[in-house]
Amino acid sequence: MELVLRRVGDVPSAALERAKRALLRELEFLNVYIDYKRLEPSLDAYDWERRQYVASKLLKELGKVDDTLTVYLIEADAYEDNLNFVFGLAMPWEGIAGVFLRRLRNEFYGWSPDEEKFMQRVEKEVLHEVGHLLGLEHCPNPKCVMSFSNSIYDVDFKEARFCNLCKLKIYRRFSA
Ligand SMILES: [Zn+2]
Ligand SMILES: [Zn+2]
Repeated sequence: MELVLRRVGDVPSAALERAKRALLRELEFLNVYIDYKRLEPSLDAYDWERRQYVASKLLKELGKVDDTLTVYLIEADAYEDNLNFVFGLAMPWEGIAGVFLRRLRNEFYGWSPDEEKFMQRVEKEVLHEVGHLLGLEHCPNPKCVMSFSNSIYDVDFKEARFCNLCKLKIYRRFSA
């Protein structure tokens, strides 16, 4: 199964590479590659009143690479439906997911920058959205990467890995 990581806006290459390593570590059956071309977000998906993108609209506009699972790292803030914001969104029926980086940075909260924390959060949110692409629902285990994160504290509390139950569900479906 193939998965491509793409970037939208000023996303550091190191974030793409970190996400790739996490995916290869957790999901050995995936073939992950990086498309380094920098894409720009479509303003059609921008909500000028809220100053946020509409997550699903933006992901649909960005589209998909052939039959490949397509995951975007997006330097922006976004919301969806009645949620004030989303860290990420997956559309499993389309094979598209995105992670929005703005709220994963310490700077957003007025804290001093922490590159390593930021990278860990990128790993977690990418694994989480790819978990959804592979059919997983949210997990009640707060340490599992598939637990739902309502705040940056939740993101920091969970680990960059699937719990045994989630891992079993994925491997039952996808490993040979
Ligand atoms: Zn989720
Ligand atoms: Zn789990």
